[in-house]
Amino acid sequence: MTHAVKFHPGMMLMEQYVEGTLSAEVALAVATHIDLCPHCQHLCQDLHNDHGSQLAKLSPEMNNNADDFAQMLDFITSQQPNTASHAPKQQESVTVNVNGREFRIPRALSRLVSQQSKWLQLGGIATAKLPAGEKTHVSLLYIDKGTEVPNHSHLGMEMTLVLSGRIYDESGEYGAGDLLINSPDDTHTPHTRADEDCLCLSVLSAPLKFNKGLVRLLNPLQQFFY
Ligand SMILES: [Zn+2]
Repeated sequence: MTHAVKFHPGMMLMEQYVEGTLSAEVALAVATHIDLCPHCQHLCQDLHNDHGSQLAKLSPEMNNNADDFAQMLDFITSQQPNTASHAPKQQESVTVNVNGREFRIPRALSRLVSQQSKWLQLGGIATAKLPAGEKTHVSLLYIDKGTEVPNHSHLGMEMTLVLSGRIYDESGEYGAGDLLINSPDDTHTPHTRADEDCLCLSVLSAPLKFNKGLVRLLNPLQQFFY
């Protein structure tokens, strides 16, 4: 089943991604979205071509940076089909197992997922940390069927990319490839429905702040998320 991706990174993030100015963690979320989104694959290619022709006009010194960037982009895109001649034709199947379920992981994430820490589970929610820089928290987030993540706002930016399944919040419904970006002004209560669980990539630039319920009860969860 293919899900039509509805929530994209937006033009500014896409441009910054192609320019190589995003933090590694945000770039990871965008790259993974691109893996799952044919629309953004084309957009990325167009922006890359535009960017390349602009860089060609710059000074030699700038072109050194451009070379570095081109290498980085090659590195990122080398996991995509058609560009990697050395890669096996068949997609390497990287999977994660949680709650008795097996999920296939997009290419952009496969390297990091091989270094995931063990799953921590609390109720219907499980999380496994992925390697990230000091100020950012990157994790796989699994939400079992019929589970609600307590209402929270964000001290920093929260990016949630749905990898598999479906999740809902006050603003809508999100399926595989959809990217939710929440700023410190946003408050939401994500939940799954009774018939479908959900696996997400979560990128947090600051801890979540829970708004409802017993602080004592939620404190461990806050620790757990961050
Ligand atoms: Zn997209």
